[in-house]
Amino acid sequence: MRFHSIKEVDVNNKFVLLRADLNVPTKAGKITDTARIDRLKKTVDLLVKGGAKLIILSHFGRPKGITPEFSQKFMTPSLETAWGHKVNFANDIIGQDALQKRNSMRAGDILLLENIRFDPREEMNDPAFAKELAKLGDIYVNDAFSVSHRAHASTEAIALLLPAYAGLLMIEELDALEKSLERPKRPVMAVVGGAKISTKLDLLNNLVLKVDVLVLGGGMANTFLHAMGYNVGASLCEKDMAKTAQQIIARAAEHKCTLVLPEDVVAADSFAAHSPHDVYDIKSVPANRMILDIGPRTIEAIECQIRGCETVIWNGPMGAFELKPFDHGTNEVARYVAENTQSRKMVSVAGGGDTVSALDNASMADKFSYLSTAGGAFLEWMEGKKLPGVMALKSKGSKVA
Ligand code: AMP
Repeated sequence: MRFHSIKEVDVNNKFVLLRADLNVPTKAGKITDTARIDRLKKTVDLLVKGGAKLIILSHFGRPKGITPEFSQKFMTPSLETAWGHKVNFANDIIGQDALQKRNSMRAGDILLLENIRFDPREEMNDPAFAKELAKLGDIYVNDAFSVSHRAHASTEAIALLLPAYAGLLMIEELDALEKSLERPKRPVMAVVGGAKISTKLDLLNNLVLKVDVLVLGGGMANTFLHAMGYNVGASLCEKDMAKTAQQIIARAAEHKCTLVLPEDVVAADSFAAHSPHDVYDIKSVPANRMILDIGPRTIEAIECQIRGCETVIWNGPMGAFELKPFDHGTNEVARYVAENTQSRKMVSVAGGGDTVSALDNASMADKFSYLSTAGGAFLEWMEGKKLPGVMALKSKGSKVA
């Protein structure tokens, strides 16, 4: 899929509506992680330097109607610090304040509108609301991949009404995803871990069609081991999913996807850090112990597969990585992927759910080719779903190459 990039447009003196994701984590009203704001700086710089009148749309939290604690006003000083530009704030979205402030903007000015979800029509993808929003701008830019799995007025409906472009972050994300699943350098491996297979069925069913090697770890692998007739003791295991696991195994064989499952595991007395534990062959896990990590032979087998791959895409930890020392398997595999990325330019893309914290914990996050912080949108992409906000950039009003 190709989209016109915001880099190609003359934005001078034009009203640019930028859909951003400023849904930052907070504690007691203070922003605890400014990553989302910092990452947006390059798009903001480009537009401001290009002389745009930049109007920013975002949501913050999940307000039900107008709720003062979800106002976006508190974030303007942080935006100014991170971006080095003055940021004006409108107390509404399409109301009098927004219109008045918009009409007095000059080239290079930035105006942040109030929380887009204060209007219930946003999440209803209401065309009339999108029309009102579109009246504020000449051009629409979507730089919020992380909310593009939602068909909302500010992600989908509006893109059909104005010339629509992908922002720099959106392009970065789409490029990384294309390199990992759409048009990867082969062989391509997927590493999937995490707690349960019931939450990752669509993901697994899509991956066995697309990848050459599928590594399964974490609690999820226990269900596969159980389905194959091994005793997993007191481990987390979705026994009612055994049949589904067998179907996935069959589908993998049918599509010539090599499945890599644990050969040995680390099993402990309880789900607690430093709980007494030992390494076991999967044929001999004791009935009273629970599997919390992959074992050394499994790590070796995964590393051997990595050596033969050109691309690795990763979602979900290999074990209970929050509990030491059961983060060992995840850390080792992460380190090996990072090493191969650095030494021989293997493409490595990771994201979704706990994966970012697991790779942070392994101190490997910045050594992957690309780390997506998009969560739900990243997973839906890995599941092979079409994301409405991305698809809309290809439609009618948008400028598609
Ligand atoms: P997910 O959100 O599905 O990616 O799952 C992440 C969670 O899976 C983390 O909180 C891990 O602690 C958990 N997890 C990984 N391996 C295991 C395991 N063997 N037993 C129990 N929980 C696990």
